[in-house]
Amino acid sequence: MSDARDEAAECIFCRIVRGEIPSQEVARTAEAYAFRDLNPQAPTHVLVVPVRHAANLGDFVAAAERDEVGHVLALASQIGREASPGGYRVVINEGVDGGQTVHHLHLHVLAGRALTWPPG
Ligand code: 5GP
Ligand code: ZN
Repeated sequence: MSDARDEAAECIFCRIVRGEIPSQEVARTAEAYAFRDLNPQAPTHVLVVPVRHAANLGDFVAAAERDEVGHVLALASQIGREASPGGYRVVINEGVDGGQTVHHLHLHVLAGRALTWPPG
């Protein structure tokens, strides 16, 4: 059985946070790291992740300190506003039906074009 530390050792986004896999940094704080998506879906497409490994939003909220949750959301908002005064979108995919492919919680910040709704 694997615990959170094993997961963090293997997790691609933990490896990005630790600098073992290169990424294009947008912002870094003690609690969160923001970097450009490898396959951007808008002129600005930034991923905001908690530094501490959590597989998804549910696990993160269950285990996180209250401030930690707010901090990650606040960083996503700041990046979105700075990228596009006209508006932006924050997306979290969770689980198979949510379309999650990387199991380290990440907030997609999409900006720089008019975004359509609903998503697929
Ligand atoms: P999900 O479908 O899990 O919500 O989104 C995962 C996102 O991570 C995708 O948008 C994908 O392009 C991005 N991604 C996957 N691997 C890497 C990587 O190694 N580096 C970066 N910068 N983005 C990645
Ligand atoms: Zn991780």
